[in-house]
Amino acid sequence: MLGVDLHTHSNISDGTLSPEQLVRAAHKIGIQTLALTDHDTMDGLNLAASIAQELGLRLISGVEISSQWSRPATKKTYGVHIVALNMQHPAPLLAVLEQQKQIRAVRAKQICDLLIPLIGEDIYHDVVAKVDHVPDRVTRTHIAKTLVEKAYVSRAQQAFDKYIKEGKKAYVKFEGLGLEDCIRVIHESGGFAVLAHPTRYDLSATNIRYLIEIFAKYGGDAVELPPAIEPLGTRQMVDRMIAEFGLKVSVGSDYHGDNMPWIKLGNIPRVNEGQQGVWESFV
Ligand code: AMP
Ligand code: MN
Ligand code: MN
Ligand code: MN
Repeated sequence: MLGVDLHTHSNISDGTLSPEQLVRAAHKIGIQTLALTDHDTMDGLNLAASIAQELGLRLISGVEISSQWSRPATKKTYGVHIVALNMQHPAPLLAVLEQQKQIRAVRAKQICDLLIPLIGEDIYHDVVAKVDHVPDRVTRTHIAKTLVEKAYVSRAQQAFDKYIKEGKKAYVKFEGLGLEDCIRVIHESGGFAVLAHPTRYDLSATNIRYLIEIFAKYGGDAVELPPAIEPLGTRQMVDRMIAEFGLKVSVGSDYHGDNMPWIKLGNIPRVNEGQQGVWESFV
């Protein structure tokens, strides 16, 4: 086992373990290097730091940034998640995250408002109650969970499919930081920029390729390897693009606790011979 997991969520965003519980769980299964990468917030890191130190686990500062990129040929804008890792002086990134949090808070209300005519109820209060009444922590996972609890749908996935995924009536795009600026501010903060789950954006192979190409052109550092459950051909395609554009690799489970019980903490794909792990460059 590599002992590394560089993509995890706590209950500061849409995971279910507290930052402390996450560190304890990671330590228990032999993870030595753990990055906490909540959505658009680094607020959990302080809460995780002292227990990590106590247990001798290396906690890497991280955040999963809701970014966007566009393809001139189609004029369409696509959402993309960029995981920022190992920030040495995070002030520039923290300033940008304040804006991202504002966007997230406003969007949570907008989604709930769009749901009112569809379900006949305003669930906003119940949604923010899930995140200690801090609206800038709300993700669509919380909205989906609330819709399940109130029996408007039977499973979270159904909430996405019926109401809140792209193309559905209560979908609100996350108008986040552009990809180029995102990579720049991560570097200004002394961190590494990682393209998260490249095969999970519903993009064609051509568009994945274009995304990885501009990610590399803008100075992006590493691409996350697809989970082992994905077809071998998908992994091979990503491996080829990583090699072609001279990128490092990152490994993370995208653990969300009981919100996604099928994802296990520390369950990361294998790294091929010749692939350079981004964690090897952490100072
Ligand atoms: P948000 O950043 O608010 O858009 O929420 C993102 C979270 O929603 C991610 O952690 C995903 O795991 C989850 N999510 C996004 N799209 C889907 C989907 N189609 N089905 C289930 N979960 C999704
Ligand atoms: Mn999530
Ligand atoms: Mn993501
Ligand atoms: Mn994630």
